[in-house]
Order: sequence, then C-alpha cells, then structure tokens
Amino acid sequence: MRIVYGPIKSLGLGRAIAVDPISRHPKVCNFNCVYCHLGQRGITLLERTNFIDEDSILEQMGDCLYRDQCDAVIFKGTGEPLLASNVFDLARRIREVAPKKVALLTNCSLLREPQVLDELDAFDIIVAKLDAASEETFQEVNRPHHSIHHQEVVEGIKEACRRFRGSFRIQVTLLRENMGELESIAQICRDVGPEYVYLDHPEHCDPMHRVSKREMREAMDKFFGTHCRSSQERE
Ligand code: SF4
Repeated sequence: MRIVYGPIKSLGLGRAIAVDPISRHPKVCNFNCVYCHLGQRGITLLERTNFIDEDSILEQMGDCLYRDQCDAVIFKGTGEPLLASNVFDLARRIREVAPKKVALLTNCSLLREPQVLDELDAFDIIVAKLDAASEETFQEVNRPHHSIHHQEVVEGIKEACRRFRGSFRIQVTLLRENMGELESIAQICRDVGPEYVYLDHPEHCDPMHRVSKREMREAMDKFFGTHCRSSQERE
C-alpha cells in the first residue's frame, strides 16, 4: 500500500504530499460515510493504535519533503488518521526537518478525547469534516460507530478550534442528503469560527448522492459570514 504519495492538489493547501499513517485495505475507520472513496467495506476501530513504524514513513518520504513543487504535507488516510497513535510524533518530526506546512484531515470523532486535544498543535493546519447538523443526517451520511454521536462531535470541533493555535478549517461535503440542512450546518460553522470553510463534493460516489454544480454555487451563499471556498475552484 502507498504510505506517501503525491503531490496532490488539495483545496486551500496548494500542492501537497499525502501521508497515510494507516495504510490498510480495507479501510480502518469509525465512520462509514456513504461517499467514502475507499468503499463500503472496512474495519471499525475505536481505540488508537500504531499502524506504521515512524522511521519507515520518514524513509518513504525521502526527498519529497524538499521538493519546491510541494507546499504542504497532509495526513489523510485509508481511514481516520487520528486512529494512528503515532500521528502527532510523525507530524512533529516532519516539521523539524522540512520547511512545509503540516496539515491533518480528520472526521473529528476523536476530538472529544482530552489527550488528542492536547496534541493538536503538532500540526499547522487542521481540516475538520462536518457533513451534518442533526443526529439523523449524521447517521445517514457518516454512519458512525453506534457510540459516536453528532452533538459530541460538534462539541469536539468547537473545543479544538478554541484551543488550536494554527489554522483551523472546516470541510463540508455537499450531498443530496444534507442539502436540506445547509443553513444549520453554516450556522454551526459561524459558531465555531474557523479560518475557512471548504465546500467539497465527492468525485467517486454513487450519482444518487451527488449535487449539481449549480447547487454547489448556490450553497456558497448560505455560508455568509464565513470565508467559504468551493472545490470547484480546484477544477
Ligand atoms: S471518515 Fe473518511 S475514511 Fe472514514 S468512512 Fe468517512 S470518508 Fe471514509
């Protein structure tokens, strides 16, 4: 499996090298989102653990870290990157040796854990997923493990944004299923106060979940009062 790949074009981060601290197939996650590009099969995990040895990740990164055409390093995985318990040490080691911004893309399920909150400053940028404003839509879209609830996830996002000293950003994936509560999702974003809100659309999911480009443009108006950007800018 690829542990390090890219550069990829990443919304708001420019050209980034991606690091997968899980590198497992099938995916290892505590959600099973309807739009997941890793497929619907996976291992459900709640406890954080080590998947890949740090030295082998750094070795694979090699001179990627020093290439001028890479602006950032982003941790995104074949599952939730925060389930990898060495992700913070890895981020710190990369920041020590390379002049790159180090970012984390997270589903926010573990932001309720004090130990996780204490270590977030290992990153320069956090991109936090928020696809629902209600428990019902959260269950329908993100399909989390039964012990994870929407309100706790939102509280975790608020607390993480309040404590984090870097750039905190929210990513909303627009789908048929959450179009009806975009105003409420936008209000949560205004309450949290991230630096940016990114509106994304899944490229590889069943067409029944997809929204049109016109709907994506219209959705941006609902996020007034935030610095909102759309993944259409990437295209
Ligand atoms: S959180 Fe990410 S990896 Fe996990 S199921 Fe959702 S899209 Fe897939």
